[in-house]
Amino acid sequence: MRMCPCCKEYGDVWEVVFKNLDDRRGVMCFECDTVWESVSADTNRAFSDYETLMKEHGVAPDWKLITQVQRVFPTPPETSL
Ligand SMILES: [Zn+2]
Repeated sequence: MRMCPCCKEYGDVWEVVFKNLDDRRGVMCFECDTVWESVSADTNRAFSDYETLMKEHGVAPDWKLITQVQRVFPTPPETSL
C-alpha cells in the first residue's frame, strides 16, 4: 500500500530517477514533493523532500531532471523488480 503520509491520502506517487544525482532511484509524491528511498520503504519514514534532498547533495533543485519511471499504485502488481 502506498499512501503519502503528508497528503494523508493516495497522492501522485511515482517511482523516479533523479538525473542530477547520478541517476539515483527513489519514490516521490508529486503533490507535496516528499521523497522516499524505495517503494518498500516505510511510508512514515520519508527520508526527505525534493528540495532538501537536492540541497544535501549540493545540487540545485530542478524538476525537469526528475524522470518518472512508473506510477506507484496502491496495490503493486506481482512482478519481480
Ligand atoms: Zn504527498
